[in-house]
Amino acid sequence: MEIKKGIAVSPGVVIANAVVLDSGEYRIPYRNVPAEQVEAELEKLRKAFEDSITELNSLRDATAEQLGRDIASIFDFHYGVLTQGRLREQIAQLIRNQNYSAAFAVREALRGYQRRFLKMQDQLLRERYKDVRDIERRLLRNLIGQEHEDLSNLPEPSILVAHDLTPSQSANLVKAKIIGVAMDAGGLTSHTAIVVRSMGIPAVMGLQNISAGVSTGDTIILDGTKGLVIVGPDPEMLAEYRAEERRLAAVSSGLIELRDKPAVTEDGVQISLLANIEFPYEVQTTLEKGAEGIGLYRTEFLYLRSEKEPTEEEHYDAYTLVMRNIGQRPVIIRTLDLGADKYTQSQARDPERNPFLGLRSIRYCLQNLQPFKVQLRAILRTSVEGDVRIMFPLISGLMELRQAKMALGDAMEDLEELGIPFRRDMPVGIMVETPAAAIQIRELLRETDFISIGTNDLIQYTLAVDRGNERVAPLYTASHPAVLRMLRDIIREANRANVPCSLCGEMAGEPMYTLFLLGIGLRSFSMAPNDIPEIKKIIRSTTIARAVRIARRALSFDTDRQVSNYLRDETRRIAPEAL
Ligand code: PEP
Ligand code: MG
Repeated sequence: MEIKKGIAVSPGVVIANAVVLDSGEYRIPYRNVPAEQVEAELEKLRKAFEDSITELNSLRDATAEQLGRDIASIFDFHYGVLTQGRLREQIAQLIRNQNYSAAFAVREALRGYQRRFLKMQDQLLRERYKDVRDIERRLLRNLIGQEHEDLSNLPEPSILVAHDLTPSQSANLVKAKIIGVAMDAGGLTSHTAIVVRSMGIPAVMGLQNISAGVSTGDTIILDGTKGLVIVGPDPEMLAEYRAEERRLAAVSSGLIELRDKPAVTEDGVQISLLANIEFPYEVQTTLEKGAEGIGLYRTEFLYLRSEKEPTEEEHYDAYTLVMRNIGQRPVIIRTLDLGADKYTQSQARDPERNPFLGLRSIRYCLQNLQPFKVQLRAILRTSVEGDVRIMFPLISGLMELRQAKMALGDAMEDLEELGIPFRRDMPVGIMVETPAAAIQIRELLRETDFISIGTNDLIQYTLAVDRGNERVAPLYTASHPAVLRMLRDIIREANRANVPCSLCGEMAGEPMYTLFLLGIGLRSFSMAPNDIPEIKKIIRSTTIARAVRIARRALSFDTDRQVSNYLRDETRRIAPEAL
């Protein structure tokens, strides 16, 4: 038995056999063909292109239907390369002039492209080599007929183990019987992480060498909540996790009944439970889980169409789609939180040495006003469709907030000049994600309509622990006394100032912190839709007085370990099924 620790990117526990994704090396049967076979090879090539284009079309349609157009657009590059004719002609010439077999010519031409992409200065273009490799594999599969990486024919639900996944492979998971994903590469915000989380598939990434140490057919336990993969578990471990799997299934079917019940404490205090979403299509799940609205709509995902900035219409279409499905419930649209690990860094010609402390988020927007205003105009236009609110991320001082509001004012003027309607009184809020904002919260509260605490970043900046680095993962914890005190102070000040305050980091969806957060006065939580039932269960099982007592005690400890043990015990006592 071997236990591997990685980054927990999508929660849940699954036990199944592994299917290890071949790194995709096709054995090319022969290099040259006799002259009289050249025509037959050209015909094979034509057919392989035709089949690949048909496949891509249906993959793109199925992906658009299930995950939305933004994700489906990752196939645009593949489609463009295959339909444009240039590549095909180049391969055909290799067959005609060198008597290469079609398969060998495909490999030669595409490996040439991959080498050229790998040498590029621009990191975004360099990353394109993976797409070229994907195109090569698709063509070779259609030529040679090996199907060793076709996941759609798996005989039983399996856990996928891979080094990394290409865009097509991750989008293909939708159709395959994949119930868990373990990867050498990847982190919280990698493309695959985004897709698996939105599909609700438990996943652990950043495992470094899992694909080399596992064979197809090996039994694996994947714990996407703790970020563990157990290869070849002993009977004891297997029994323990099987019990855990059954418990979780029973708990989730029990909890789903809570959907239509209010999130209210035993002593009648109403709590607001909101959802975090990344894609418009997620609205459906949020409603099914009983969310009262969207507390955090992360909009960076419009940048999945990586090479070009989304247009105002693309922003607007995404936002109106959300509004159409959410009805009159509130939707907090967070402005672009690009930079650090999200998109722009990989596009940068000159990557930053310390991107989490660099040109990210609101700072990036204030230095790139043009795309920022495009987004602001789109949000303002959407504001007449329902209860839209706007939120600026990573505000670390008053000047930043004022500058962001000034950009919003400019966007309003643009729309006024064009006679386009919008709500001038749309609420404007900020995320509290830096110690600076937490310490200067009083002043910030005077100039903002609401706040939302982004603990994912607040914890990393308070503890100086990179939230995506598996080497320091054990140090990253919301239980640190410094974090708890900071949260208490922020919430106390917001409540005193009568400014609505929510918390939208992952902590809001972690059952062990619910009592503490209620106890320090939090009345609005925003989380991944799947977490809502557990949190509602805890809220309905306590009084505020009890939560206050628990919070006071938690704040009296000196170490995070004491805090975690205590909060876990207290939660287990009132709602064991939620932990
Ligand atoms: C946070 O930092 O807590 C947050 C919600 O934002 P993100 O995870 O997108 O950085
Ligand atoms: Mg953040």
